[in-house]
Amino acid sequence: MPLAIKSVKQCFAPTQQVVELMEIFRQMVNHCIRIGLENEASTLKRLSSLSYSQLAEYEVISYYKLHAISKAAGILANRKQSIKRGRKTKTPYLRKGILVSCYGFKIVDGILKVPILLEHMGPKGMTYFDIPLNMHTQEILSDASVTLPSFILTANGTVSVCYSKEIAEKECTSIKGVDRNLGNLTVGNDRNVIQYNLSEAADIVENTRSIVQSLKRNDVRIRKRIASKYGKRRKNRVQQLLHRVSKRVVAEAREEGTAIVFEKLTHIRRMYQRGNYQGKNYRYRLNSWPFSEMKRQIAYKAQWEGVPIIQLSTSETKGTSQLCPQCGKRLQEDRLHRRESYCQECDRWLDRDVVAAMNIARKGAEVFQRSQGLAGEAMRGNPTTPVILRVNASKLACRMER
Ligand SMILES: [Zn+2]
Repeated sequence: MPLAIKSVKQCFAPTQQVVELMEIFRQMVNHCIRIGLENEASTLKRLSSLSYSQLAEYEVISYYKLHAISKAAGILANRKQSIKRGRKTKTPYLRKGILVSCYGFKIVDGILKVPILLEHMGPKGMTYFDIPLNMHTQEILSDASVTLPSFILTANGTVSVCYSKEIAEKECTSIKGVDRNLGNLTVGNDRNVIQYNLSEAADIVENTRSIVQSLKRNDVRIRKRIASKYGKRRKNRVQQLLHRVSKRVVAEAREEGTAIVFEKLTHIRRMYQRGNYQGKNYRYRLNSWPFSEMKRQIAYKAQWEGVPIIQLSTSETKGTSQLCPQCGKRLQEDRLHRRESYCQECDRWLDRDVVAAMNIARKGAEVFQRSQGLAGEAMRGNPTTPVILRVNASKLACRMER
């Protein structure tokens, strides 16, 4: 059975001892990165054989050494990937202390016990650093069906505990397409479509921009600090809105027994660059829109609930907003009707986003049938109008499903 993984995060107060341990961990990771760069090793196997003996000088439990190597291998693999994609890379270096482990820790009576080795006590005298878990974390981790693969402590006092569960993929009876747009998310198929209005997220983004722009002090350090402060605030607020919507989308898919189909947005950031005959504001709006975050959230929540996800390839995604979902003819665009297209064959106006969601769902059904070994194309039916429901995402109650 496939394994779904989630994590829960909370704050904790690090003691001097834990801070020191995190610092040693950081040094070990950087040591391994150095070794990896010198020998051009980025695989875990190669890096372990090169660096494990070198880590003997650090006085920590041996599984922290293994995790430091694996952390370094991850960083080096990312760097290799970036170089392959032609991105500029700096020499990787871990700046802040962390502690990662999948061994030795346990949760007893709502307390996360992180093993620490005291110098004077030898290998037998294991001592633990206790992190009291809050109610929310305890409630999540008390589920009997979850296992705890690992935890991460960071220097600024947050602990995340990963938890996983074996999930059987649910049988699905229908398929829904997800169309991600600027300002809304459209989910549906030929029968019904739900459009989540996310214009509030766009407003938040726009607001942040005008605040940052209105501050005219010509000091790069202050500008940076302000931009980072408002950037974080913006991210949190938009994130909250997206979580609400993604939760709702997945809950509905689970109840109705539908699979979720995503189109592929290749190089969406490259489409809105300078020199593409677009205005500055338009480019900013599109480039700040969290297209992939929306997908990430729906995908991991769906995985957790056993809702199947179908990903279309670039060629399968082609033309999803330009073809009529009923007759398959090319739609006509009109400058006056910005968000609508006209089908001559069916003689009617169609919402572009709804068209895209319907076409994505149809393509997804084809892909699904092919994967199941069933021949045949998804049928195009008689012209019907799907039930379109428009929901304001900012007004979605958080506890709707309870
Ligand atoms: Zn048509």
